[in-house]
Amino acid sequence: MEKKITDIGGTWPLANGVQIPYLGLGVWQAEDGAEVQQAVRWALEAGYRHIDTAAVYKNEAGVGQAIRESSVPREDVFVTSKVWNSDQGYDSTLRAFDTSLDLLGLETLDLYLIHWPVAGKFRETWRALEKLYADGRVRAIGVSNFLQHHLEELMPEAKVKPMVNQLEFHPWLVQSELQAYCRQHDIQYQAWSPLMQGKVFEQDIVNELARKYGKSPAQILVRWDLQRGVVTIPKSVKQAHIIGNADVFDFELTADELAYIDGLDRNQRLGPDPDNFDF
Ligand code: NDP
Repeated sequence: MEKKITDIGGTWPLANGVQIPYLGLGVWQAEDGAEVQQAVRWALEAGYRHIDTAAVYKNEAGVGQAIRESSVPREDVFVTSKVWNSDQGYDSTLRAFDTSLDLLGLETLDLYLIHWPVAGKFRETWRALEKLYADGRVRAIGVSNFLQHHLEELMPEAKVKPMVNQLEFHPWLVQSELQAYCRQHDIQYQAWSPLMQGKVFEQDIVNELARKYGKSPAQILVRWDLQRGVVTIPKSVKQAHIIGNADVFDFELTADELAYIDGLDRNQRLGPDPDNFDF
């Protein structure tokens, strides 16, 4: 089914029917307190309705405060957090979830993710996420940094299938086969480091397209994500970037241009490898 792209408030349905705004604000490396609060406020003012945080970012308190103080109703904002690796396991995940909710000062979460596939632990962690979901404490559950073999290990005994997989995704790391696998299993693909943590500016094709459309390279990549059906969460703490990264609804990349960007793929990561991380 084709995924419609309309405006900054647009959403796509997850497997359980919950609507996820396809554009959100990432807040990794945004400092708790004034910095992250201001970023979330600017994002909500600009029309963002999706904020992506995690326990390990240590800024859930600031994220929650900005959401609670905003005039945007809580139910209109999609809030994601993630269980960190050292908290994986059944009971410890339930405790970690409570801590995240306390820090955020919210009653429920919209999406809770297993941050990394910690070997020997993630199946128990998933059982805890299923319990939180069954208890109505989170509207959708998913994973992050899961490759196909991790999903194949998780899914046979899962009562609820992951609804989202959040992965490193940008022109150097397209992972078409993993994308196809997720599509086939109705798992929404979500991009982290969509702007290549700044390296977007080194891509000639992207710069060329930016000139053609009178857009920034960041806007070209956000648009590429959306036209590829990928939910995206560019991070910024600067108001001009926050506004600009979401100003992508007045142009459309052609099929050839999407393919050119796909062609930059080098299977190269900027972040850790899910098969070989030690944290
Ligand atoms: P991004 O690819 O979003 O890049 C962020 C960097 O780009 C920041 O330095 C930001 O600086 C800069 N930037 C943002 N907009 C612009 C712009 N328009 N022009 C120039 N520079 C710009 O990287 P992230 O790694 O932060 O990924 C996004 C989000 O994904 C994270 O914040 C986090 O929520 C999530 N994530 C999840 C992971 C996981 O394991 N699940 C791992 C990593 C990230 P400035 O703030 O100064 O604008």
